[in-house]
Formats: sequence, C-alpha cells, structure tokens
Amino acid sequence: MEGFCPLASGSKGNCIYLGTKNTKILIDAGLSAKTIKAKLEEINVALEDIDAVLISHEHTDHIQGLKVLAFKMGIPVFANTETAKGIVETFHGECPKFKIFSTGETFEFGDFQIHPFSVQHDTLDPVAFTVKLDGIKMGFCTDLGFVTSLVTSHLRNCDYLYVEANHQPSMVHASSRPMVYKQRVLSRTGHLSNEACGKLLMDVAHSGLKNVHLAHLSSECNTHETALQVVRGILEDHGINLDICVAPQNMISRPVHF
Ligand SMILES: [Zn+2]
Ligand SMILES: [Zn+2]
Repeated sequence: MEGFCPLASGSKGNCIYLGTKNTKILIDAGLSAKTIKAKLEEINVALEDIDAVLISHEHTDHIQGLKVLAFKMGIPVFANTETAKGIVETFHGECPKFKIFSTGETFEFGDFQIHPFSVQHDTLDPVAFTVKLDGIKMGFCTDLGFVTSLVTSHLRNCDYLYVEANHQPSMVHASSRPMVYKQRVLSRTGHLSNEACGKLLMDVAHSGLKNVHLAHLSSECNTHETALQVVRGILEDHGINLDICVAPQNMISRPVHF
C-alpha cells in the first residue's frame, strides 16, 4: 500500500504503517508482532516487507512487539540514543540493530525525509516526527503533555496530520483511576487534551491540510464523539473546516493513499 494507515492507536498499543513502492516502515511497534502482521495483511502489506521501525519513545505501548520484529526478523530500529538505551534496558541488555538518529536532525531513509523533534513526555528523550516525500508532508505527534512552539512550528504546512487527542479533563477527574494516574495524564509531561489538540490544529490548519487523524484517545477518559465534538467545535469557532477522523485502538484506521 502506498500511503499510511494507523494500525492501532491508544494506551493498549500504537503502530502506524507508512509506505511507498520502495520503502515501507512502521512508526512504533506497540502491538504483538502477530497482531502487527495480521493488521498489515488487512492492508495487503507483508510484515516481511517492512524495512525499518521508527520508535518515538520507550513506553510499552510503543515497543511491545519490537523484540520479535528486531531479533527474530532482524528489522532495523531507528531511535535516538536515550530511547535506544531505554529499549535495551527493557530488553534486559539485548540490543537490536539500531540506526541512531539525533533529535532535531533530519535524516533520509529510502523515499522518506524524516525529522524527529522533541516533545514533552515522561520518557528519556521522546520525539514526534514529520515525514516528507515527493512534496507531501506528514506529521505524527502523540504522547505529549503540552504543545510547545517547537511542536507547532514543525506541524505547519502538513498535508496529513496524526495528532493526540487523549482525554477530556472532566472525564479524567471523574474517573475511578488513582490520583497518581490523573496527575500524570494531566501534567506537562503526560498526554494532550482534546482542547489542546483543537488549539494546535487551529494554529496549523491551512488549505492544503487534507486529513487529520485524532490519535491516542484514552479508553476511559475520552470517547470518539467527545474528541470530535471538542476539536471540531474549536475549529468551527474560527471558521475552519477540516476532514477529521479518529484513529481507533481496536481497528485499523481509515487509510490515506498518496
Ligand atoms: Zn503512548
Ligand atoms: Zn508514552
């Protein structure tokens, strides 16, 4: 498949397929290898054809299937040094075939120009990515506590965006989760609220932005309807009308074809 398709999105596992005829990658591998394989088959992609995995940060919901992909299948793993250290620690000292990138420096892989940039999250050196090919720019940005000006500037001029709309704060407060969980989610190194997502989209929306996937929704502290309603409400208040869909946890998302 030429395009991208979020295979799963949320705290139970994150994985995005992104590919052209020549280059096929995954962004994060937070599902079991078996599940990734099955989901890729739904979009007619073979796991054996994946050329590399890009890792945003070392939380389990982003690396759960990485061990099998990296060791059994020998797929190279792109990560920055700190995240690589975190992964090796999680793997009890076993070291995948890393291709180390520097946060803030663009690198090329096959057809893609990939730019990792810093986000505020509670891991060693978390990043989000923009990916360019043939004049198309995509932004993949989840797992951040708040939107810095760096984030906004990188997500400008994208054709496609995959951005976090994690929670509705009132639902976090009302949930039965422990206080430590609530504090973490709502903190500046936690996750992005629906409102913060809407404001970010308001800042980066432009006539060339074709589609937005709302991503990493909390299963308990958000709903698809709430996320869409809050985000669309903020945009409509400013006269902005975007094609927005939700990237679900349990199903593959609406694919984007180049
Ligand atoms: Zn996550
Ligand atoms: Zn995370």
